[in-house]
Amino acid sequence: MQWHIIHSVTLEKPVMGDPCNGCGVCCIAKVCEIGVELGDDVNCKALMQSTDGSFECGMVVDPYRFMAEDELETWKAIDDIGKAHQGELALKKLHADMLGAGRGCDSDDDAVQEYIEEALAREKSPPGL
Ligand code: SF4
Ligand code: SF4
Repeated sequence: MQWHIIHSVTLEKPVMGDPCNGCGVCCIAKVCEIGVELGDDVNCKALMQSTDGSFECGMVVDPYRFMAEDELETWKAIDDIGKAHQGELALKKLHADMLGAGRGCDSDDDAVQEYIEEALAREKSPPGL
């Protein structure tokens, strides 16, 4: 992981189980399996930050932007035969369900705190110096 990215987190992480506020710490600390599939297990290519500081998962809000064209054939075929972007909507829902969207923060509080402390410590004393 790129430790300095921790500074892009501006929202305080809610307690595990409380509603997700998009603080982004979980995705910065560890790229999930869906993100790894995009080809980078250090910095998720789909992590998007809004002007209010919150983060969104691009694989939920705009998967067509991040996935390869050959992976989208089925979904686009559904778009072509249906109405109102049914394939794209189904793909967004699939990713949201896989990630547990809407079920609250699922990131362990202690693990996240450890990550933040390690990131800040590495910044002060980079390994090898
Ligand atoms: S799941 Fe938790 S740590 Fe991850 S973005 Fe949401 S609130 Fe932040
Ligand atoms: S794919 Fe989405 S949920 Fe997974 S690490 Fe990337 S931004 Fe986070």
